[in-house]
Amino acid sequence: MEVNCEGCAGCCVDWRPLSEAAPDHERQGRYRPLDDTYNLVPLTGDEIRRFVDDGFGDVLVPRLFAAETGVTVDGHTLASVAGGPAFYVGLHKPSKPVGPFGHDPAWLDACVFLDPTTLQCRIHGTDRYPETCASYPGENLALGFETECERVERAFDGDRLRDGTPPKEPGIDPVPLGSSVFVHPAPHRLDGVVERLVEGRATTADRAEFVAVAAGHHPGDVEVDTDHYEETYAAVLDAESWAGQASDEWGRLADAADPEPATAREVEEARGAPPTPGWD
Ligand code: SF4
Ligand code: SF4
Repeated sequence: MEVNCEGCAGCCVDWRPLSEAAPDHERQGRYRPLDDTYNLVPLTGDEIRRFVDDGFGDVLVPRLFAAETGVTVDGHTLASVAGGPAFYVGLHKPSKPVGPFGHDPAWLDACVFLDPTTLQCRIHGTDRYPETCASYPGENLALGFETECERVERAFDGDRLRDGTPPKEPGIDPVPLGSSVFVHPAPHRLDGVVERLVEGRATTADRAEFVAVAAGHHPGDVEVDTDHYEETYAAVLDAESWAGQASDEWGRLADAADPEPATAREVEEARGAPPTPGWD
């Protein structure tokens, strides 16, 4: 497997506004995300707890799935396990000024950790770098699924997937409950929350509810540790990371300013974002 990521970031950015060739590949099949995020990165329980412990609880977002059968909350039938809605927790994608694929800069939803100036990941190689990102697109190659690299090639030409040989150890393991799929044990607590998630106006408390359940989830079953839940819930409410503050600022600028990637120096790096090395 070899990928050419320079100037791409196709798996970190919602590039659907740039091309009709971007398929909504996450919203096909039996379980369809209720949110509109493109390429959400599902985090494991360990990764979620590390982000929360490091003060980044303010950039974690939940994903619920619509299904034919399951628990119904706020009029939505949710994919469920043992009577509880199943969900992922991933990374927030605020609007940022980015110019992937040689395109002029535009306001596109992009991962909180993507550096708009270099289109590189600010947490690459650190202990916070998600396994999903580190191994991408190995699992797709091993399973014969189309990769984001190939979708980008189809839409913008260029050579992104240089070697599509699956890695020897693609990391495809059975995913036990509590690893990256979590179950909310009390759907009645989600009245109103689900509707806000669908409408893209979830509150901090809404997000904290899911992140806390995920952090307190015992691997392999649907039990949630109460102490972990309460500690995490409070930590998410208190979190004020550079990434969360920058997300708020990007939201204000996206409504008022031209998309200029260099603005990231004031919006992100002045708040403490680590720089990226560039491609030289
Ligand atoms: S879509 Fe492929 S080539 Fe582009 S940044 Fe992601 S892994 Fe790299
Ligand atoms: S964590 Fe890094 S590699 Fe993963 S989606 Fe975000 S910017 Fe991209």
